[in-house]
Amino acid sequence: MARIRSKDTKPEWVVRRYLFSRGYRYRKNVKGLPGTPDIVLRKYGIVIFIHGCFWHGHEVDGHIPHSNIDYWRRKIENNQQRDEKNKDLLNRMGWKVITIWECQLKPSVKEQTLREMEYLLNHNYLEHYRQKASKI
Ligand SMILES: [Zn+2]
Repeated sequence: MARIRSKDTKPEWVVRRYLFSRGYRYRKNVKGLPGTPDIVLRKYGIVIFIHGCFWHGHEVDGHIPHSNIDYWRRKIENNQQRDEKNKDLLNRMGWKVITIWECQLKPSVKEQTLREMEYLLNHNYLEHYRQKASKI
């Protein structure tokens, strides 16, 4: 049930709306790939995860609550390990992984985060293209 509810949470929506408005086409919640990436841009060789800072243990602001510390620590560490494993698998399949943290989509920094993401997309696209071209 949590999965259904998390499908169109706002941070993901912010990123998708930006991509769409800039003319990028993507697939969302792709179950066939490790970790079910939130956004997949096949043409660019990019998958994007949008992570909640608490659940995924963002070291900058993902503070563990003061009660049940062991419980939360274990839970969040499991998530972090799973994230790492998925990223590793995706890299080995040839995907470049972009992780965007929830806090990076706060109004004050959102614009910069989205522009950096777009830069990475285009940069990776060119890299891909260059690699393919050099093989011909
Ligand atoms: Zn954060």
